[in-house]
Amino acid sequence: MRMILVGPPGAGKGTQAAKLVETYRIPHISSGEMLRDAVKEGTALGVKADGFMKSGQLVPDDVVIGMILERIAKADCAAGFMLDGFPRTLPQAEALDDAMNKAGVTLEAVVLIEIPDQMVVDRLSGRRTDPVTGTIYHMIFNPPPADVVSRLVQRKDDTVEAAVTRVAKYHSETAPVVPFYDGKGIVKRVDGVGTPDAITARITAVLAR
Ligand code: ADP
Ligand code: ADP
Repeated sequence: MRMILVGPPGAGKGTQAAKLVETYRIPHISSGEMLRDAVKEGTALGVKADGFMKSGQLVPDDVVIGMILERIAKADCAAGFMLDGFPRTLPQAEALDDAMNKAGVTLEAVVLIEIPDQMVVDRLSGRRTDPVTGTIYHMIFNPPPADVVSRLVQRKDDTVEAAVTRVAKYHSETAPVVPFYDGKGIVKRVDGVGTPDAITARITAVLAR
């Protein structure tokens, strides 16, 4: 299965990906996570990406496209992959399409997880990540167990200012990839409001159709 998760910041892409990879047994490839790792490691790519990410801007297409195409060419992606956070612009979608055509493989599904704009800030401001397990928590909606609270980290771009910029970027840059994939008949729309388990069930149902 080759699939993509799309949706505004805070829609639950990372949360759902973690649940879905257990069912589909394919690697979860998060462009945001790869970029955050690069920033942490201080690689050339990370140095380039850091400023854009902190302010909620998108990292330039050429940087991200190279990073992802290289990643999905690795052996563990031969039987499939789940992309989370990529493509985020039309040129990224086109570059992915070209690369997949050249490799002779097809994209089966684009899962679009939708939440209203006014939910985004609440979702992002309470988000915390466990650096040891990678688990994504929310201080109110998905509270962490007491014994991990002290080690949780908050993302630098989960500020109100950056969140507002990211929602605007989602509408101006990312939303246009949806009609691109609609033209191929592979978009599956899923309501992202509800419990995480309910949303996982919605996604597996639309993918089984
Ligand atoms: P979220 O989970 O909140 O949607 P991500 O972790 O996917 O955010 O991305 C965090 C940041 O990393 C983005 O705001 C952007 O700066 C950068 N980024 C991630 N993926 C891409 C991409 N495909 N193109 C450009 N920038 C990206
Ligand atoms: P994305 O990857 O799309 O930015 P995340 O999966 O990181 O989104 O989720 C953003 C925040 O919202 C996290 O704190 C997460 O725990 C929380 N969250 C995820 N799914 C739900 C849900 N269905 N209901 C309430 N909160 C959720």
